[in-house]
Amino acid sequence: MSGVTLENVVKRFGDHQVIDGVDLHVEQGEFCVFVGPSGCGKSTLLRLIAGLEQTTSGTIAIGGKDVTRVEPADRGIAMVFQSYALYPHMTVGENLGFGLKMNGVSKVEIEKKVGDAARILRLEPLLKRKPSALSGGQRQRVAIGRAIVRGPKVFLFDEPLSNLDAELRAEMRVELARLHKQLGATMIYVTHDQVEAMTLADKIVVLRGGRIEQMGTPIELYQKPANRFVAGFIGTPS
Ligand code: ADP
Ligand code: MG
Repeated sequence: MSGVTLENVVKRFGDHQVIDGVDLHVEQGEFCVFVGPSGCGKSTLLRLIAGLEQTTSGTIAIGGKDVTRVEPADRGIAMVFQSYALYPHMTVGENLGFGLKMNGVSKVEIEKKVGDAARILRLEPLLKRKPSALSGGQRQRVAIGRAIVRGPKVFLFDEPLSNLDAELRAEMRVELARLHKQLGATMIYVTHDQVEAMTLADKIVVLRGGRIEQMGTPIELYQKPANRFVAGFIGTPS
């Protein structure tokens, strides 16, 4: 059980209301994509789900459990950002295992989890390399690997591919789709890229000014965009 449910979530920074009463249910195992213009609150909504920001009001539940006031580390989530700061002096294997080591996980267990993540992401041949000897796409796979080793129920991605060139983005899209299928985890994914949204999403949530403008499957939004704004984000010819 790892669906994510938001009820009437509001976030204000001072008197700036950034999230304006969001109700949303992401099913267990669903790939849910947030799209919308810069500044509409996509990252803030992810950070609220992650617990990196506190809601001003409203509730957030993960796997049916109210986590509104639960610490990020205890929410069963892992977040992947666009700027993936790998430790330059550590190998790929050490980067993958570092968080577990800090949490006092045994060496044997770390080796197993790092091995599993490396296999899933096809990083096995690179485990002994330093980050400086990796391509951008390989580094981003290590960053995703660091999330996988923690065994989260829910993955949160904030524009993870936006620093990569078009070819690598296309490659990583395929990787992410495969990863989602293989792990069966709930994924919530923020992107600017229509192709990513249309190809990866089970459900697309279009945000505007801190509110949900429309949500539905890619086909639903493509065929029946509620207005020109949504059509613009989905790429519907209109
Ligand atoms: P998006 O990810 O969709 O581009 P954000 O969630 O980053 O949008 O930001 C939404 C709005 O909230 C923006 O106007 C931004 O300036 C504001 N905002 C985000 N974080 C903070 C913060 N910590 N303090 C004040 N304002 C913030
Ligand atoms: Mg953002």
